[in-house]
Amino acid sequence: MIDLHTHTLFSDGELLPSELVRLAEMTGCEAVALTDHADSSNLDWIVPRLVQVCKDLNAHWKIRAIPGIELTHIPPAMIGPLAEKARALGALVIVVHGETLVEPVPPMTNRMAIEAGVDILAHPGLITVEEVVLARERKVALEISARKGHSLANGHVARLGEKHGAELVLNTDSHSPDDLLSPGKALQVALGAGLGSDDFERMLQNSRRLIARLC
Ligand SMILES: [Zn+2]
Ligand SMILES: [Zn+2]
Repeated sequence: MIDLHTHTLFSDGELLPSELVRLAEMTGCEAVALTDHADSSNLDWIVPRLVQVCKDLNAHWKIRAIPGIELTHIPPAMIGPLAEKARALGALVIVVHGETLVEPVPPMTNRMAIEAGVDILAHPGLITVEEVVLARERKVALEISARKGHSLANGHVARLGEKHGAELVLNTDSHSPDDLLSPGKALQVALGAGLGSDDFERMLQNSRRLIARLC
């Protein structure tokens, strides 16, 4: 399992980064990105701390810890500039909190995230065909989410992603220890979204390629 979307106590997660990474390793994860919620108020505070702890953990442990960020509920026009700022601060994986069915995420968030060329559009809800096609062209991965609520649109995202050739990745969006998934459970989430075990393997390869490109 590779998990490119998780939260620590630097936002609304329950665990210290080291705890989360350790638990992820014990759950069978080969790489985990720490992607706390951020806007312009806290981006510069979170990213350098995640960069530091990932550097320390990677020097000692086998699991790969990756510093990232999840731009969350920000005005869509700010997604591009804040993504750039996050990268300049050392975030390697830029996630945008997409237009999930269960939160009033500002309209145009999916669109602007894709246009900005972020790495992962998380839980994009009822994303349109045009946006999926654009995501393929811009190489923005679309997320199949294991998280309650956000996962309501997984079937839609999986269907359009497969049909139009956009890259899919499967993440947990973990906020607490119980949210982390073993590889077997992650496969069940993929099957539940109407995908096959071959698609699950492809998602894993997509995550691996993303890491190779960004890290
Ligand atoms: Zn959260
Ligand atoms: Zn999240």
